[in-house]
Amino acid sequence: MDFNPNATLNGNISSAGGPGGGRGGGIIVGGAGGVVMLVLALLFGVNPFSGGQGQPAALDSSQCSTGADVQTNRDCRWKAYVTSIEDFWSGRLNGYTSAPTVTFTGQVDTGCGTASSQVGPFYCPADKTVYIDTAFTDQLLQQLGAEGGDAAEAYVLAHEYGHHVSDLTGQLAKAQASGNQTGPTSASVRSELQADCYAGVWFHNVAAGNDPILSGVTQDDINRVSDAAQAVGDDRIQKATQGYVQPESWTHGSAAMRHKWLETGFTTGDPGACDTFSTNDLGQ
Ligand SMILES: [Zn+2]
Repeated sequence: MDFNPNATLNGNISSAGGPGGGRGGGIIVGGAGGVVMLVLALLFGVNPFSGGQGQPAALDSSQCSTGADVQTNRDCRWKAYVTSIEDFWSGRLNGYTSAPTVTFTGQVDTGCGTASSQVGPFYCPADKTVYIDTAFTDQLLQQLGAEGGDAAEAYVLAHEYGHHVSDLTGQLAKAQASGNQTGPTSASVRSELQADCYAGVWFHNVAAGNDPILSGVTQDDINRVSDAAQAVGDDRIQKATQGYVQPESWTHGSAAMRHKWLETGFTTGDPGACDTFSTNDLGQ
């Protein structure tokens, strides 16, 4: 995947300042619209509030103005992803309103509570903002055996913006209203699969060569995106963290389900194909 050197990067992304804000408040936990990769804290066995020691400086994309800047400052790629994803949805969804991405290291205060990196990247409906610890996200993908790379990173972000799209269309609120049930056909899983599908729709547009920012999608990129989606499947994560699979506690869906819906979005390029709430065929 290439970054068009002449593309303007005006994406809505900023940094939440330094690590270790000093507040030891409750860690947020996901509802349907919340958290991807929540259980990964278990995988690392770390204290989410251990402070900022040894953490990298927060990502700074304030100097990123064109695609060419990605070559000299790799941090700029995140601004490129945000610009691409938001450009796409603002052209595709009537009434789309921008959601900022806030990068952080360690922990961050949000409209949904105080969150640590260990919850993984997430979308907070209360302040309509995407939060991501970019270094930690790369580490998570690696720990889960995903190949990673630019396209995989972009998919993770596109998934979070998928939640924003579901929020704007009212589907997220409906899912959250049905409570905190878990399991393969729960509203939470349907909501997550919809976000995967929307990420696929965006990626379809990039792969088709229609994106002003990103181009040159290869089969390897497509494989890496698919690989990342499957690596964060509940069954994979449960196997890695507890050694067995417990479908009744799923919140995001299995690797096969996540792959199915990413693929549905990717092959159709049609957000209308992402109605995970009114089908009985979610995959297995
Ligand atoms: Zn999600």
